[in-house]
Amino acid sequence: MCYKKIAKEIKKYNTIVIARHIGPDPDALGSSIGLKELILNNFPKKQVYVVGAPASRFRYLGNVDKLPEIEYNKSLLIVTDTPDTKRIDGVDYSKFAKVIKIDHHPFVEAFADIELIDDKASSASQLIIELAKKNNYKLNIDIASKLYLGVVADTNRFLYEYTSYKTLELVAWLIKKTNLNFTSLYDNLYTKSLKEIVFSGYISLNMNITENGLAYIKLTDDILKKYEVDPSTAGNLIENYNNVDKIKVVAFCSEDKGNNYIKCSIRSKGPIINEIASHYNGGGHIYASGARPKTFAEADKMLEELDNLCRNFK
Ligand code: AMP
Repeated sequence: MCYKKIAKEIKKYNTIVIARHIGPDPDALGSSIGLKELILNNFPKKQVYVVGAPASRFRYLGNVDKLPEIEYNKSLLIVTDTPDTKRIDGVDYSKFAKVIKIDHHPFVEAFADIELIDDKASSASQLIIELAKKNNYKLNIDIASKLYLGVVADTNRFLYEYTSYKTLELVAWLIKKTNLNFTSLYDNLYTKSLKEIVFSGYISLNMNITENGLAYIKLTDDILKKYEVDPSTAGNLIENYNNVDKIKVVAFCSEDKGNNYIKCSIRSKGPIINEIASHYNGGGHIYASGARPKTFAEADKMLEELDNLCRNFK
C-alpha cells in the first residue's frame, strides 16, 4: 500500500483540496473532513479545503469549504470514498497537478496518479486512520471523532463483513492515542426522528416480499409528503430490514421529484447486487448499493433483475 508515497505528496503541496462522493454519508464526510483536519494538525501552514455539497443531516461531522481561487496546476486533489469521476462532488479532478484516490469501493475507473484502493477495508475512514498510523501523524480528539464515526457508520457498528482484525486494531489505536470517549459519539449517529420511525412503520406494513426473498417498496412523492420525509429517508432506514428472516435482498425506491429520478437503496445478505445497480445509473459495494433509475417503470425492471438474482442464489 502506498501510504508513504501519499505522505510525500501531502508534504510537497501547499494547497490541497479534498473531495468525496455526491450524496455523502458519514464515511465520505468523516474521511474527507477528518483528513483535512489531520493534514492541518500536522502541517498548519498548508491551505486545505474540503469541497462538495453540504449535508445538513451530518452537520456534526464538520463543514465543507467554499473553494477560493486556487492555482490548480500547483495543487493536490485527494478524493476519498469515491471509485469513479462521475461521482466526485464539487470539483473538476482533471485540473489538478496531482490526484490521489483513497477508496474502499470495488474498482470502477482509474483517474488518479496514486490509487490507494482496498475493497476489503471496512471504510474509507479506516484507510485514513491507517495513513495516520503508518506516517506517525499527530492526532487530536476532533480528528479521531470524525474517523471513528466514519468507520462505525460504514460497518454498522462493526457488524458487516469487512470489519476485520485490522479494523478493530486501527480503531483501538485511534482511541488509545486520543483517549477518545467514543460512546458519547453515538447519539449523533443513531438518534432518529419520530417521523422516521412512523414512516418505518408504513414501510414495514406495506413492503412486498417475493417468494425468492426480495423485499421491496416503491415510495411515491405523495407518500413521502404524507409522512413528511424526504427521498433519502427510506435509505437511512434500510439497515433495519437487512437482518430479517426470509429477506435476501432489500430495495427501497423513493421518487425524487427534485432530481427527477427514483432514488434506490439496495442491501443484500448474500447475492452480489452492485452489478445490477450499475445497469440503473448506480453501483456501490457487493452487498450495499444504490441506483437512480429514471422512472418507476425502469425501477420495476431493476427489481425484476434483483428478484431473479435472489431466485438463482444458493
Ligand atoms: P446508499 O444506499 O445511498 O447508502 O448507498 C450504498 C452504497 O452504494 C454506497 O457505497 C454508495 O456510495 C453507493 N451508491 C449509492 N448510489 C450510487 C450511485 N448512483 N452510483 C454509484 N454508487 C452508488
